Amino acid sequence: MKVIVIGAGLGGLAVALRLQGLGCDVTVLEQRDAPGGRASRLTDGGFTWDTGPSLITMPWVLEETFAAGGLDLHREVRLRRLDPLYRIRWAGEERTFDFADSPERLQEEVASFSTSDARRVDDFLAATKPIYEHAILGAGRRPFDDIRSFAALLPTMLRLDAVMPLHRFVSRYFRHPRIREAFSFHSLFIGGDPYRVPAIYAALVYLQVLDGGWYADGGVYSLVEAMSRPLDVRCGARAEAVETAGGRVRGVRLVGGERLGADAVVSNADVMRTDALLGRPPEGRSLRPTMSCFLLYLGLDRPVDALLHHTLLVGREYRDFIRTVTRGQHLPRTFSSYVHAPARTEPGMATPGGDSLAVLLPVPNLRADVDWEREGDALRDALIADLERTFGLDGLASAVRLEHRMTPQDFARDLGAVDGNAFAVEPTLRQSAYFRPPNRVRGVTGMYHVGGGTHPGAGIPGVMLGAGVTAAMVVADAPASRMAVAA
Ligand SMILES: Cc1cc2nc3c(=O)[nH]c(=O)nc-3n(C[C@H](O)[C@H](O)[C@H](O)COP(=O)(O)OP(=O)(O)OC[C@H]3O[C@@H](n4cnc5c(N)ncnc54)[C@H](O)[C@@H]3O)c2cc1C
Repeated sequence: MKVIVIGAGLGGLAVALRLQGLGCDVTVLEQRDAPGGRASRLTDGGFTWDTGPSLITMPWVLEETFAAGGLDLHREVRLRRLDPLYRIRWAGEERTFDFADSPERLQEEVASFSTSDARRVDDFLAATKPIYEHAILGAGRRPFDDIRSFAALLPTMLRLDAVMPLHRFVSRYFRHPRIREAFSFHSLFIGGDPYRVPAIYAALVYLQVLDGGWYADGGVYSLVEAMSRPLDVRCGARAEAVETAGGRVRGVRLVGGERLGADAVVSNADVMRTDALLGRPPEGRSLRPTMSCFLLYLGLDRPVDALLHHTLLVGREYRDFIRTVTRGQHLPRTFSSYVHAPARTEPGMATPGGDSLAVLLPVPNLRADVDWEREGDALRDALIADLERTFGLDGLASAVRLEHRMTPQDFARDLGAVDGNAFAVEPTLRQSAYFRPPNRVRGVTGMYHVGGGTHPGAGIPGVMLGAGVTAAMVVADAPASRMAVAA
């Protein structure tokens, strides 16, 4: 059974590993000169940065994926559990919130803001546990390609209040505004507005408490390297079209004209490009991509004391900021950002005595009226000045020795992300489960999706779980004779 995977993002690599482990003959086509997609690595002058994901949660999903491809995760990569997982700082406030790696200490941390809220932590975790079990462990591991499977889950989600907006759900347990923010921001990591996404995403807090937050030595890219090693990954190979005949996939045509035959094709490219790859008119309603990101990768000649390994910096007018970056037409006036400083855990990620920072600022995608060529430099200066002034990262500007950046234009140009989205299809209720582009592409036999745009969604755990769903479908759909040949 010959399978072609278009795209070597984490989802593409995960499905390829699984299918190879099941006996398929798999080739991964990657348009760029290295695998990884959003999870790429940048090195320069002794500094190393993960360009995208940095916090690893649900490590057992990685263990499962590696094992399915015949790999032992812990032999391939050294994972370290972080404690605290991250620190949250608010503009103009001394007090910080550390997401501690134990429910008891998490409760103490909440108590430093509000003792009555601290008494509700257990209730909150008890309320999110069944959401996690049904929505992530249950629904995240199975396809939603017919409305009945969705209808069957809905009563449970309604009973658990998991369809109400996330921030409102969290506010039923906690009264302090900072605690409400600290327990609801997580959906931003997959491009979802906490004031709009369903409370299904409250499960993201529960899973952090359950399984912790992890760092892979060398960064997330170490996972990409390990996953790529046993696979046939062809870099510099851009798929131009998926060829079909009689409603069935026949293979892939590359830019340059080369044709590769296949029994099945799994696309890890942006799901909003699937119709174009298939050469068919867009089907149904149009999907809404997520916001984008403006990223600075900074190599410093000295460490910045105010930061932990992961630090969230919440600016003034946070709600307005989120509305602007998810729905707005212009750049935000205040900045809420996230800084990854891996040299805190692994000094080798920076030059001796130096620091390696990745600063992530959510920004509107390319649908907004922003001229990135013109506004990029000014935004960079304003962001650095804000980090110094508002959050006390004193001397940051003068410590910068090397610098790279990524804008929404880079997401669009380098990754083929529609409108430069950073996290694929926005995770709203109307674009989740049955309403998300399905793992098995409708109307073409032998064509599938994997990655952040399909079910269950973005984030490392999401794309890993989705790869399991897709791989099972590919094999289940394969004629027995083809699988026998593969085996
Ligand atoms: C800045 C940032 C920070 C993040 N932080 C976290 C985090 O801390 N923790 C977490 O869990 N998640 C995080 N995420 C989300 C996570 O990184 C993504 O959901 C995940 O990496 C997406 O994987 P994917 O499989 O969808 O593939 P992608 O990374 O989207 O890769 C798709 C690949 O397909 C290739 N491709 C596209 N079209 C073609 C074509 N026609 N031919 C050949 N190749 C093609 C692209 O070049 C790319 O390599 C973050 C994302 C971003 C952007």
